[in-house]
Amino acid sequence: MLTIRQLFYYLTSAYIILLLAGLLLGRWFWFYPVELENYLHQQQKELFSLSSAIDLRQQQLLAMATDYGHWNETWNFVRQPDQPGDYLQHNFTAASMETLSLDAVVILNREYQPLLAYQLDEQQQLLLPADNNFFNWTRSEFAHESLLIAEPVNDVLNIGEHAYLVAVSPVLQSDHQGPQAGWLLFFQRVDEQLLTNISNIIRVGLREIPLSTMDASTIMPLELPIHEVAASHPRCVYNSNQLPVLCLELQHDMTNMPEFMNRGIFIALMFMILLPALLFAVLLHQLTSPIRQATSLLQRNNSDGLLRPVLFSSPLRVKELRQLRNAFNELVYTARQQQAKLEQLSNTDRLTNIANRRAFDETLDNTWRRLCRHSQQAALVLCDIDYFKAYNDHYGHQAGDDVLHKVAQALKGCARRTDEIAARFGGEEFVLILYVDNDVDMHSIRERIQESIRNLKIPHGYSNTGPILTLSFGVAWIRDSGAWLENYTAADWLHAADSALYAAKGAGRNCSLVQIISADQPFTDQPKLLQ
Ligand code: GH3
Ligand code: MG
Ligand code: MG
Repeated sequence: MLTIRQLFYYLTSAYIILLLAGLLLGRWFWFYPVELENYLHQQQKELFSLSSAIDLRQQQLLAMATDYGHWNETWNFVRQPDQPGDYLQHNFTAASMETLSLDAVVILNREYQPLLAYQLDEQQQLLLPADNNFFNWTRSEFAHESLLIAEPVNDVLNIGEHAYLVAVSPVLQSDHQGPQAGWLLFFQRVDEQLLTNISNIIRVGLREIPLSTMDASTIMPLELPIHEVAASHPRCVYNSNQLPVLCLELQHDMTNMPEFMNRGIFIALMFMILLPALLFAVLLHQLTSPIRQATSLLQRNNSDGLLRPVLFSSPLRVKELRQLRNAFNELVYTARQQQAKLEQLSNTDRLTNIANRRAFDETLDNTWRRLCRHSQQAALVLCDIDYFKAYNDHYGHQAGDDVLHKVAQALKGCARRTDEIAARFGGEEFVLILYVDNDVDMHSIRERIQESIRNLKIPHGYSNTGPILTLSFGVAWIRDSGAWLENYTAADWLHAADSALYAAKGAGRNCSLVQIISADQPFTDQPKLLQ
């Protein structure tokens, strides 16, 4: 069988397991993949930004090249390179190239002959054409087919183991009249500074990877979408000939990389588990503590036979518990009433409706113990109706019962204090235990008893004592009680009263005799009786 506590434990455990499983599964199959997807999307956007930034720079370079290529001065220079005038000094100095972020400028005529080939070296000095890689490059077949055409074009090229953005513009007159004179080529090296600029704009770390160190399987174009989240993604820029020219590593910021389980999620998880568990524990305590209190009280009731109402205090106002308590307490009160009624019935004589022999015996014992402890005066009065057999015989048994009831009630009226008793001793005999203050009080008690019967005025035509019903009684009067009584018993007291009654009967009935008992005159078989 399960206790409520066990039931709660099982339920709480099941709840926690289900919650944990639900949360972890939900995280694994739903939230975490969505977060990863979002992060992948973000990395994809970063890749896209890089592509856009390179494009933008190429467009700028092409715009500049086209601008220079369509000047009349440039056209004139290509047509008459022998008379450059101020053209070169004005436009292509180390300072102006640096301002335009150009690393090299090449001007060719229609026969692909270089008229100008400038390159800034490491010290920002202009190199002469003879040492110039850019000039050599323009002789390639690829350059003639793809770049040196009638349209402005741009590309990314590998020259002397370095990647360059290149913009090529045909040299035309500014009004675009006349034949194309040649080409103007602007080069910008993809160096540390350019990458830093782009990196600052797109907010992603960039590192150039030498093409020679790249594994063929890792060479991927810039446009290739990202398929999984990673700290870095290598991507390569291809030239118009579909060959990789420049490889870069995108270094993503991984600080916000979603984790399956991080501290925040762990705390939230613990909170979601511990809070309900705590609530369960409090609820369990609130529910079980009144039940345990009530159960222990009922067990005490069972063990000692007392009927106590259940009083438990529960801070929680649980309706069912209160209903149970109230119903149980009502049962206790009903049982108590029935118990009291039963006790009264078991102590009451049915015919006379006064205390019965059982109640008398109990009171006699209690009184005797009390007399042994305290110095008091008490009288045991044993009464017997005179010639009652004759009454019964002549007036009938029913009339006899009525008389017994009347006499009993009259005698009951003689016991006035709550600790005094008037009881039916048996048949037509009654007994009283009365407390006495002094001799006068004793006398008035006797008078009171005689008078109570006399006042009933029950006609008795077959009594030898007179025309009405009379009573004889013997009194055993303990005049000074105390520890000396411990040598005797209550039965001795009763016996003394019986002896006095017997003597009163012998003395002619309708009278009473008293035996005085004290430490000086203890119980004896031949007592002196007082009339
Ligand atoms: P004495 O004067 O010596 O006491 O004589 P008595 O007739 O009163 O005494 P006895 O002991 O001879 O008779 C007692 C009678 O009491 C006998 C019985 O019929 C009657 N009696 C006892 N109990 C009851 C009762 O419950 N109802 C009725 N009606 N009579 C009872
Ligand atoms: Mg009798
Ligand atoms: Mg009698």
